[in-house]
Amino acid sequence: MTALNTQRMEANIVVLGTDNVGKSALTVRFLTRRFIGEYGDIESIYSHSVIVDGREQTLSIWDSPYSQDMSTESTTFEKRLQWADGFVLVYSICDRASFNNLSKLFQIIKAAKDYVGSEKAPVVIVGNKRDLHHRRTVLSEEGRLLALSVDCQFYEVSAAENYHSVLVVFHGLVNRIRESRSALKKTAGIKGIVKSMSAVFARRRTDSL
Ligand code: GDP
Ligand code: MG
Repeated sequence: MTALNTQRMEANIVVLGTDNVGKSALTVRFLTRRFIGEYGDIESIYSHSVIVDGREQTLSIWDSPYSQDMSTESTTFEKRLQWADGFVLVYSICDRASFNNLSKLFQIIKAAKDYVGSEKAPVVIVGNKRDLHHRRTVLSEEGRLLALSVDCQFYEVSAAENYHSVLVVFHGLVNRIRESRSALKKTAGIKGIVKSMSAVFARRRTDSL
């Protein structure tokens, strides 16, 4: 095993979407491999260690009811946005309103992340309840198009029927978080070089005076 493979990483993930789309079902499916049917409305932060591409990753996943997100306590919502390294935006393929809501959520995330001056936080869009295709009101193409327009990954899954597709969602997001971190490091590196070069030039200029 290489030194790189033993490096432990941490990432905070927030799961967002309107009520009843399956945010808790997806989270619990990922953590326990199980689908239990009813989840209640409890806000939870789970901690979970996974191996993604040979590297151990400690994930903290924040799952909460939507009404709480949009309540008057918007500062806690804002805090959660700042805390997150990545987002899972969930809608149900049989609930058009839940799909329509994602653009708004995406804009809120984008504004919050730009505000602190960080690179954009990776987002994955998930159309859940794929097993209920006979009641579908949102086409796969619509989900894919939305994801394309905001430069995110997109998956259609069924938390009820399938563990693997849920696993792929979270692993995909973890990979995107890693990529965005190494891109940030590179930018910081280049900025550092530019800074020290301008320091050298500034010194030269004063030397020649
Ligand atoms: P949340 O409010 O977004 O956290 O949604 P929940 O996880 O509590 O799920 C809401 C309801 O949808 C529950 O009755 C779940 O059993 C059901 N549900 C969640 N995911 C699926 C799915 O993939 N397929 C089906 N058929 N039902 C699901
Ligand atoms: Mg829930």
